[in-house]
Amino acid sequence: MLAILFLSATVDWGFFAHKRINRLACFTLPSDLFGFYKRNIDYITLHAVDPDKRRYASKFEAVRHYIDLDNWGVAPFEQVPRSWLEVQMHNTDIMRITKNGDTLSWMKHELLPFDMNEPTTEFIFEKNIIQIQEYKNFFRYAILPSFYDDDRDIDKSKLKDFFGQYGLHIKSGRYIAVENFSEHGILPYHLVQMQNRLKKAFETENSAQILRLSAEMGHYVGDAHVPLHTTKNYNGQLTDQRGIHGFWESRIPELFADEEYDYFVGKAEYIENKEDYFWDMVLTSNSHVDSVLLIEKEMSKTFPEDQQYCYTDRSNVLTRTYCEGYARAYSDRMQGMVEKRMRDAILSIGSVWYTAWVDAGQPDMSSIDFTEKEKLEAEEAELDKAFKTEQIKGRKHTE
Ligand SMILES: [Zn+2]
Repeated sequence: MLAILFLSATVDWGFFAHKRINRLACFTLPSDLFGFYKRNIDYITLHAVDPDKRRYASKFEAVRHYIDLDNWGVAPFEQVPRSWLEVQMHNTDIMRITKNGDTLSWMKHELLPFDMNEPTTEFIFEKNIIQIQEYKNFFRYAILPSFYDDDRDIDKSKLKDFFGQYGLHIKSGRYIAVENFSEHGILPYHLVQMQNRLKKAFETENSAQILRLSAEMGHYVGDAHVPLHTTKNYNGQLTDQRGIHGFWESRIPELFADEEYDYFVGKAEYIENKEDYFWDMVLTSNSHVDSVLLIEKEMSKTFPEDQQYCYTDRSNVLTRTYCEGYARAYSDRMQGMVEKRMRDAILSIGSVWYTAWVDAGQPDMSSIDFTEKEKLEAEEAELDKAFKTEQIKGRKHTE
């Protein structure tokens, strides 16, 4: 008997599109850089999907692939700070855990509202006026570095130093940081961090790191071009359109990308302001969310019902998927949006690689080569093991 599966087509752009996008990005590079990427194009292609595999191994990974912008308001999302330091500062509570183990709220993040048009300069805590700039300095060195720690304990001497100047008393027990933002996705902030890391890899001329970070950066930039990576309704689960994530980013590219898309996207360009650039990327993606959902909703009501889902036999497994005719009609109604976002992703990836290299002082890439192949292969084996044996930690886009 054949098993029936609904083809939810893996995750993110699908492995097919991520690999294709990374590969094509190499061809946007200027000649000084192209040789290096060309020599390693198979690596760049193959490792385009590592970050998705890692979601099975680390609980911090999943949130790097999306940002639920609509969780925070409406476009242009002026209540969302664009910098990592600020978004963390404005969304982190300080809690006190008493000796008895009771957890008490000590300082709530609601005391520090954010609006980019009217930046807060001070806030009131326990009848004291605290300058935001001073709190920011404190937060930067006392709280932010513990983001990846399990318990997020705050050093009490640092708390005393800062709050003591306002006459505030730090009591017995532990003080911990609890942040409320990341679970809704941190994609644009992660892109800025990755850009810095890639620049450093070029500065130190570490070929293994350059390749690893380039491949992974390609993945995250790819994700940032997918509208459904910027909304809490990421798989149509709130509008009875479950499966639309894989439909848009996997099924459509798999059907049409090789035969029909035009990949002449032009040359990589230098990016002046990284933060603005990555935010524009996710805001543009988000501006397409309504079309992606509404057009399919409309079509599902008017297209002949028996021509929406088809069954294919894949290695003896009967798989339910969207029919090609339905996919084409959807794609046409979106006026080539999938192709356009794919093309934009390719050019953006070339541009971020090129920019990191320029910012690192344009090292001579002809003398740098891939020397730690074995090490990277070992890393890959680890990832594959986690991928096969473990449950994904955090959100699956296709559920
Ligand atoms: Zn992803």
